[in-house]
Amino acid sequence: MKKKLLFFSSKKYEIEFFNEFNKNFGFDISYLDIRLDSSTVILANGYDGVCCFVHDELNSKVLDKLKSYNINIVVLRCAGYNNVDLKRAFENKIHILRVPIYSPHAVAEHTVALILALNRKIHKAYIRVKELNFDITGFLGFDLYKKTAGVIGTGNIGKIVAKILKLGFEMEVLAYDPKPDYNFSNSIGIKYTDLNEIFEKSDIITLHCPLTKDTYHILNEQSFEKMKKGVMIINTSRGGLIDTKSLIKYLKNNKIGYAGLDVYEEEEEYFFEDFSTKGISDDTLARLLTFPNVLITSHQAFFTKEALENIALTSLNNFKSFFNGLPLENEICYKCGQERTSCNKQKLGRCF
Ligand code: NAD
Repeated sequence: MKKKLLFFSSKKYEIEFFNEFNKNFGFDISYLDIRLDSSTVILANGYDGVCCFVHDELNSKVLDKLKSYNINIVVLRCAGYNNVDLKRAFENKIHILRVPIYSPHAVAEHTVALILALNRKIHKAYIRVKELNFDITGFLGFDLYKKTAGVIGTGNIGKIVAKILKLGFEMEVLAYDPKPDYNFSNSIGIKYTDLNEIFEKSDIITLHCPLTKDTYHILNEQSFEKMKKGVMIINTSRGGLIDTKSLIKYLKNNKIGYAGLDVYEEEEEYFFEDFSTKGISDDTLARLLTFPNVLITSHQAFFTKEALENIALTSLNNFKSFFNGLPLENEICYKCGQERTSCNKQKLGRCF
């Protein structure tokens, strides 16, 4: 019998990829364009597995319900898993798998796109020229060459960003990561340091760490206070890394010169949806959108053809491994927050 899978928060653009790859897997997939939360979890009753994305809520209530429907696998079509109560999943013996790497290049390249667009005001120039206004007043930028970039988090994505900035633009790159990779830093000539030096010396600060209780509001009033006047802040990781209210305060007093945001603390309600005829009631987001030096994209850094192919293939393989009793190499271990393969505590290829 075909295994029945329910996809939450699924959009037309990804369904095409899943349907194409599923020809080789043969799952019976139903797609819903609604978020998983405690009011929608009932829809999963009768399925063998569920597949979720960044805004689906996998809290204790939802996980308890999934367990009561005898669902033992959740596959995340993303890398981040800050929306999952991993401890509760583990207590319920629900396996949580993800797509750890689908295209770090996609996110890194979008990061650089935000830097270049903000610096050279491409988003404003496009509109001005469209209106046949060829005046360049107000579009003055700066050379990236020899400026200093601070990269916070040097995993898969942060490393590519650091390489592009160092080797492509010949910037000075300072990096911070609690697990520094000195082979990497020595190979391209960047320097690991602490957050204070990054805050004090960087012209551009870009975030590439996961959202955890340690990194929540890693950029806050105290950190903005230490930064150079006119600093550019880029966040393509998770909204909760920045205290948005403080960001607005420091944009208002011109301490922060630019902000490029692909993510936002309260993005769940809005990102990926069309509010162009309804408007929004989030005053913080509305205020951010009024700044000429803030460029917001709607969590689209991952959005390339290559990334969607990898997401579809890896997600379906994750389900296949589970249903065939194979080791779950992309399972997240709640004890260490690592893929199972990096977690020495588990022996059998599965957390339980
Ligand atoms: P990764 O796991 O390869 O790297 C994360 C790095 O952050 C690791 O080196 C880790 O040691 C480091 N880190 C952990 N705690 C830290 C701290 N307190 N300070 C500084 N660094 C810390 O992850 P990745 O694939 O590079 O992805 C980074 C983040 O990008 C993800 O967590 C996810 O939230 C985000 N992401 C966003 C999109 C998007 O479309 N906008 C897509 C994919 C991933």
